[in-house]
Formats: sequence, structure tokens, C-alpha cells
Amino acid sequence: MHDFQYKGNQLYCEDVSIGGLAKDVGTPFYLYSYNTIKNHFRVFNSAFSNIPHLICFAVKANSNIALLRIFVEEGGGFDIVSGGELYRALLAGADPQKIVYTGVGKTEEEIVYALKSNILMLNVESTQELFSIDRAAEETGIKAKVALRVNPDIDAKTHPYISTGLKTHKFGISMTDALEGYRLAQSLKNIEVVGIHKHIGSQITHIRPFVDALERIVAMIDILKSEGLNIRYLDIGGGLGITYKDESPPHPKELAEEIVPILKGTGCTIIFEPGRVIVGNAGILVTKVLYTKQSEGKNFMIVDAAMNDLVRPSLYGSYHSILPVSKNSDDHKIVTDVVGPICESGDFLAKDRVLPDFKKDSLAAVMSAGAYGFTMSSNYNSRPRVSEILVKGNKYFMIRRRENYEDLVRGEEIPVFMK
Ligand SMILES: *Cc1c(COP(=O)(O)O)cnc(C)c1O
Repeated sequence: MHDFQYKGNQLYCEDVSIGGLAKDVGTPFYLYSYNTIKNHFRVFNSAFSNIPHLICFAVKANSNIALLRIFVEEGGGFDIVSGGELYRALLAGADPQKIVYTGVGKTEEEIVYALKSNILMLNVESTQELFSIDRAAEETGIKAKVALRVNPDIDAKTHPYISTGLKTHKFGISMTDALEGYRLAQSLKNIEVVGIHKHIGSQITHIRPFVDALERIVAMIDILKSEGLNIRYLDIGGGLGITYKDESPPHPKELAEEIVPILKGTGCTIIFEPGRVIVGNAGILVTKVLYTKQSEGKNFMIVDAAMNDLVRPSLYGSYHSILPVSKNSDDHKIVTDVVGPICESGDFLAKDRVLPDFKKDSLAAVMSAGAYGFTMSSNYNSRPRVSEILVKGNKYFMIRRRENYEDLVRGEEIPVFMK
């Protein structure tokens, strides 16, 4: 469910007409519904209300501080993967005791920043990282609370680029090495073991991989407990998929029905790291048709948003539904590619798509763009990054202004010998 619906012929976000909004703010822009985000969070949270738990939103899915603030207000925490994300979460007012830090390549500086910020725990991905954390903890005089990220060797059955739980992936510590890893962690005097973590991938649309992975992790918890380790937190990661086209991923309640019985037995506080499922369908990218053209019988719709604004179609071949912001009474349809202005043939938002015959200057809504949309955007082709707008009821708020040309060259300098 989301709050992007037609009223008559006009597409609305909650009670704001998107066509009218585009006149005010210009295109392209990302547009988010406050109501959808809040509801998605609440649905997920309430699905697990009968076990002790904490929802740590995965900041990399959408890191705008205004959105993060919504989760702070809802009592949520954050899953971060860099010092930059920690900075954002704290700026949004996050309780550091609700922040978990994952990632295969944390730098010494980032580890020190996390320790000084007093976050809940670091999810550790290698034995070398354990030594780095121990050293940083010694230097700062702050004991480091850690979980080990265990790689359960489960196929998440999703796109290979966003699958992370096979032993051939770079993530986590293998099942066979995990016990040794925990013994090492326990032996390091500046480290306190508090949990276990797993995350097997993203856009997962079946329950089975979650259950299979969890059963392995729970078996591991039993072994760890028998070794005298105090595993208080079980962090099961994120990864629940959404509907982009015709996928039918499980509802959080259906997932809960299957996994809560497994989770309950552990006696742990369960940490969830959902990203896409909360914000994916809560955001869209609004773009204007610059030109249409035909070439050798093929149709092209050239829009003002491009792969630098939304890379998912180019990067993963992802499908994003494209809707007219203003529906035309004539239902004539064509097959067309929707492409951006960037000088790459890989710059497309849709290929061979059956769409209404969009006219020059009309507006298109690229749906399901709230997750891994703006956060993966870049300045390629020296294109300023677009603005982000949040709608609540009949009001809208600019939560990130469009970049200008000065922003593009910020920090650049011509060396003095050329002057
Ligand atoms: C990316 C990521 C998530 C969020 O994944 P979604 O598919 O967006 O839910 C959660 N945890 C970790 C460790 C991640 O890397």
C-alpha cells in the first residue's frame, strides 16, 4: 500500500497534486510520502510486537536526514555501513544505543568514531577487523560491544549483485570459522561479545531463505551459549522484497508467522534491518519528457532524469513502473525506451515498455524509487543531483534542495603552477 494514487486524471502524493508540485519545484525530483513511510514502519514493527525487538532502518536505502527523523520519532534505530551514515543518523537525532554498524571494510577512524559515539554494537566481518576494534577500544578506553556477522551459506534467490549470504561472497565469517572467531573475540580484553548477525541479501521474495538461514544461526547460538558466550542480540539483517512489477513478496506478518517461533526460543532481543520494504514504494522519481523521437521504427522517450539519478535499471536491469502524472483520455499506447540525456547507451529507465504515448513536456512518475534511488545517485556528466521533497497531507517540504553548478565543483582547485 502506498499514497501515490490518481484523483480523476491526476496523480497525487497524499493530498498534493504532483503536476502542481512539479510547477513549483521543477523537475526532476524525488518525492516521498510521509504517511507511507510511517505506515510501512508501523506495519513492520507491529508484526513482531510479541517478541523483544528493535527495528534498525538500513540507512543506505535512503539516508535523507528528514526521513531518518521519521524513524527516530517512531522509536526506531539504524543500521549503518559507514562513518558518514553514523554522522547522518546522529544528526537526525538517533539514540546511539539503537545503532548497529555493519560492513566488511570499516576503517580505524570509523571504528573510533563509532566507539566514541557509544553505539549499540559493531557487526564484525573478519578476524583482522576484531584486532582493529580491540586496538581502537584500547586507545579510546571504551570497551567495544560486538556481534560477529556469520555467513550462513544460503542462496537468497535474488539478483547476484544484491545476494550476500553465500560462502563465495565477501560478507561475514563462514559457519566453519565462526566458532573460532567468537573464541578469539572473547579472548580480546577490550571486546565484549553481545550478539550475532546475519544478512543474506536484498529484494528477497520468498520466506524459505530467511527460515533456512535462521535455523543455521540459531544452531550456532546454541553452540555459543554452551561455550559460555552471552549472546543477547540476534540481528537477522534486512532483505525483505517489495513489488516492483509482479513480485508477491511475503507481508511482514506472514514472515513473522514463520520466523517468530524460531526467534522466540533464542531468548535474544531481535534486531531487524529493513530498508527497501520500508521506503521502496514510499518514493517516486518525477521526470519531464524533453523529446520524443523515432529511429528505424523504434520509439524513444527522452526524459530529464537519467542513470545518474536512478541507476537501478542500468545497474541491475531493474524494472520500475512508469506512470503518467496526468492521464490522457486517449488510451493509445506505444512500445518505447525511456532514456536520459547521458552519453551512454546504458542510460535508460525502461526498455521496450508499453506506455501511453507521452507528449513533449508531459510528466512521468518513475514508481518504487524510494530505496536505493537518491542514495545511489551521482554527478556523472556533471549533472547536479536532484531535489528531494516530502509530502505530508496537503503540504510539501523541500528536504534537499537541487544542487547548482557551484555545488558541482565544491572542493576542486586548479594547482597554483597553472595559474
Ligand atoms: C543493505 C543492507 C540491509 C538492508 O537491505 P534491504 O534489502 O534494503 O532491506 C540490511 N542490513 C545490511 C547489513 C545491509 O547491507
